[in-house]
Amino acid sequence: MRLFDTHAHLDDRKYDRDRRQMLKRAQDKGIQYIVNVGYDLPSSQRSTGLAEEYPFIYAAVGIHPHDASEADDEVFSKLKNLVQHPKVVAVGEMGLDYFRDLSPRDVQQQVFRRQLGLAKELGKPVIIHDRDAHGDIMKILKEEQASKIGGILHCFSGSWEMAQECLEMGFYISIAGPVTFHNARKLAEIAAKVPLNRLLIETDAPYLTPEPFRGQRNESAHVYYVAEKIAGLRKISLADLAEATTRNGLEVFGIKDHF
Ligand SMILES: [Zn+2]
Ligand SMILES: [Zn+2]
Repeated sequence: MRLFDTHAHLDDRKYDRDRRQMLKRAQDKGIQYIVNVGYDLPSSQRSTGLAEEYPFIYAAVGIHPHDASEADDEVFSKLKNLVQHPKVVAVGEMGLDYFRDLSPRDVQQQVFRRQLGLAKELGKPVIIHDRDAHGDIMKILKEEQASKIGGILHCFSGSWEMAQECLEMGFYISIAGPVTFHNARKLAEIAAKVPLNRLLIETDAPYLTPEPFRGQRNESAHVYYVAEKIAGLRKISLADLAEATTRNGLEVFGIKDHF
């Protein structure tokens, strides 16, 4: 069985003391591919660094809505260079976060649109972060014709109606640890209904730790528990769920299968 953690932040300081052992645990648990995701320029640079160091890690580079205020022309010109790194497989994470509102909403929207433009220009898929901003996310994806590039709605938290709209635009839906929580009725329903060829799994480590480790630091090995939960919801074997989501990950990121 093999698994693909399509969204993690393993460059985080929380792993500085045991990163190598943590990655070994992931490989021992069957995690064959990881995409490490940047959220600002320094973390995007660290992501490409990790991807250079570890053959099974790929990178996404982008500006999170929290950090949108700092994205000036110089940041964008450096980001554009990074996107062209051979192990960079997506632009992101990018999007809107109206829950924490750490950057003004108009700035978040502008930086989101600009990154969609960059991804279109350079022909890479996008990784979308959406928190409490479903309406504006869909509006901007449509206005910017994001269906031309496609990508992922990461840590999906919208409705089934929104999921269907995203699927129609050619996007993949990625499910994270919260699907394992007791109160995740709506998300569980979506995880069971998304067509198997458009479903992805992720940890968003170090955040969003699934059960039975909720409350502790998350790590890529734990994507196993997300897969196990969704396989149960869909009444298919863990092996089938794991293989399908791994293939989807290779497909959306355009990674040639090593194995
Ligand atoms: Zn995110
Ligand atoms: Zn993230």
